[in-house]
Amino acid sequence: MSGDVTVISGPTAVGKGTVVQALRELHPELWVSVSATTRSPRPGEVEGQHYLFVSDEEFDELIASGGLLEWALVHGTDRYGTPAAPVRAAVAAGRRVILEIEVQGARQVKANLPEVRTVFIAPPSWDVLRERLVGRGTETPEQMARRLRTAEDEIAVSREFDHVVVNDDLGTAVGQLVELLGL
Ligand code: 5GP
Repeated sequence: MSGDVTVISGPTAVGKGTVVQALRELHPELWVSVSATTRSPRPGEVEGQHYLFVSDEEFDELIASGGLLEWALVHGTDRYGTPAAPVRAAVAAGRRVILEIEVQGARQVKANLPEVRTVFIAPPSWDVLRERLVGRGTETPEQMARRLRTAEDEIAVSREFDHVVVNDDLGTAVGQLVELLGL
């Protein structure tokens, strides 16, 4: 599968969903993948629009049948994956495809589709992130060390991506994406 596929990824709570939402409002011609997940719908989430909400058994079946382009266990609880067939169909139809997924999944897509474009959405400053983690003062030293390690890991991971877009101002971040994608 070749074609124009862009993976938009980044750490938890960096606002990648908001960035992708703003991008698709500006460019409705983009085709944004709908993931399958084992987590329960949140209020207002629509089946088939926000996610395909599936059972654990259904997710196992998707993996076993090779139906997922990538998948990951997120926060140690729920599984999320990109159904492969709709992505293939969109690429075949000449659509520009966007996957908004977390970093483990981004790695898998890069390994499976080397020609994919990967974008890491980063927080305004890693230093600020670190300071916030340390400065909050509500965590035990162990918790703080763990959070710092996560932040370090995320910085390291960002280097694997083709592009890094800082999500400080939403409009600026979306503008950079538009430029990267040549829209
Ligand atoms: P949420 O439960 O808040 O909607 O999503 C949790 C995390 O899962 C977010 O970081 C989101 O980007 C990621 N995610 C959503 N769909 C997929 C997917 O299909 N594959 C992977 N690997 N991550 C996903």
